[in-house]
Amino acid sequence: MTITATSAASTTDSSVPVIAHWIDGALRATESGRTAPVFNPATGAVQARVALADQAEIDAAIASAESGFRVWSGYSIAKRQSVLFAFREILNARKRELAEIITSEHGKVVSDAMGEILRGQEVVELATGFPHLIKGAFSENASSGIDVYSLKQPLGVVGVISPFNFPVMVPLWFVPIAIAAGNAVVLKPSEKDPSAALWLARVWQEAGLPDGVFTVLQGDKLAVDGLLTSPVVQSISFVGSTPIAQYIYETASKNGKRVQALGGAKNHMLVLPDADLDLVADNAVNAGFGAAGERCMAISVVLAVEPVADDLIEKITARIAALKIGNGAGVDGVEPDMGPLITDVHRDKVSSYVDIAEADGATIVVDGRGFTVDGHEDGFFFGPTLIDGLPTTSRAYTEEIFGPVLSVVRVASYDEGLALINSGEFGNGTAIFTHDGGAARRFQNEVQVGMIGINVPIPVPVAYHSFGGWKKSLFGDAKAYGVHGFDFFTREKAVTSRWIDPATRTDSSHGGINLGFPQNS
Ligand code: NAD
Repeated sequence: MTITATSAASTTDSSVPVIAHWIDGALRATESGRTAPVFNPATGAVQARVALADQAEIDAAIASAESGFRVWSGYSIAKRQSVLFAFREILNARKRELAEIITSEHGKVVSDAMGEILRGQEVVELATGFPHLIKGAFSENASSGIDVYSLKQPLGVVGVISPFNFPVMVPLWFVPIAIAAGNAVVLKPSEKDPSAALWLARVWQEAGLPDGVFTVLQGDKLAVDGLLTSPVVQSISFVGSTPIAQYIYETASKNGKRVQALGGAKNHMLVLPDADLDLVADNAVNAGFGAAGERCMAISVVLAVEPVADDLIEKITARIAALKIGNGAGVDGVEPDMGPLITDVHRDKVSSYVDIAEADGATIVVDGRGFTVDGHEDGFFFGPTLIDGLPTTSRAYTEEIFGPVLSVVRVASYDEGLALINSGEFGNGTAIFTHDGGAARRFQNEVQVGMIGINVPIPVPVAYHSFGGWKKSLFGDAKAYGVHGFDFFTREKAVTSRWIDPATRTDSSHGGINLGFPQNS
């Protein structure tokens, strides 16, 4: 599948293709004169450049979505549902090619990319059942001869702005539900891995979605601000880092939009002394180093309630030694466990947090700084890193690192661990590992976090529950997908209706003149 379009006017390096927008059901090459590099993180090579929209392209994308909405909102529920089923079938049949696109621009291993697609596909499957979730409610004879009913209508043109780390799953948290509910979507993907969005656009078209209902606007802050300030765009669904999430929430709200803005995280795993330490070590490694730690639900801190810390560090260290790091695409059909980070800039930022931890007095038990992969010396690799004795005042403890860096913090009790989790500014995910059901139940009640795992390290809720954190991990009132998703992408209209029964109609059936406030009887 061709997913790029070149424009002589738009590239600063004519040797690589320029990744285009998707507007009006077709690729649209940029004329903005602005592009950004798209790397293959495993090799460090610039493999393409991506269009960065100017105002004319932003306007064209929104205008196309506006006309797409007019067509799509008139489709019957049955016709909309058939498009969703077709989209699900094509996605499921061809997900391997999409996974390879993800890996080539993001760097995560292909099986992990398949995992993100499958979790996104779950939301598509939920969305196929949308008729049940948007059917509104009816109260017959709420007052004498009066019926009251509520309709759930689409918002119109809605904006989705996604981060680099899940170029398919995060858009699919929102897009299928928004489209099922009758809206038209403008997706602004991350400029770091923009091609997967175009693949999705093609598949929506093949599934029968009318042109303009799904638009891909490539770009940076200019494109984002264009969506935030457009009077046509009715809502914004954002996922990304906390400072940008806060900016999005404030700007979109000021412009009268409905907004859900999911931000960053710093997720803790609380390990009680009765836990199965082999299970804990496996889970800490999986949740700390999967996708090279570039997951908002990654475990970043293990809170070890003493006396288990030394044993745990030994077990985690042994497991790290066995990890294979390399090109996520695999070599000769053999995949590594972990790929590179997204850019060299990000790798250096992750490295600087290990420097900070060391300077603040922590012990670097396993040091991933300066890690290279043979044959991929220019790739953006960073080795799995394990830190012991990290002071909780260190910026390496308080801030999101978003890399393969796992810190063990020793605590004396459950209460000390809980207090640390609750003192953080984020509240995305957390986990407790224990055999004590009473302690786990207490934890689920007392912890100030939106998504909790009990002996489960990455508690991403299934599609029919909703995804979202607390505190600075979510700005706005609505989480992603589940019932929250359908509520977010529909607007309720309440109708109070009276039809007078012709058999009982009299001259006074209308009730005559009465200036009092209507009362139900
Ligand atoms: P980011 O905030 O840098 O970018 C997210 C989106 O915002 C991108 O589309 C980007 O183009 C746009 N953007 C960036 N700077 C902007 C600006 N100044 N003004 C307007 N728009 C701007 O995030 P990222 O680096 O792509 O993704 C990683 C972050 O996302 C991490 O913090 C991670 O925790 C978070 N994340 C959160 C969740 C969640 O569900 N809470 C899920 C995935 C990722």
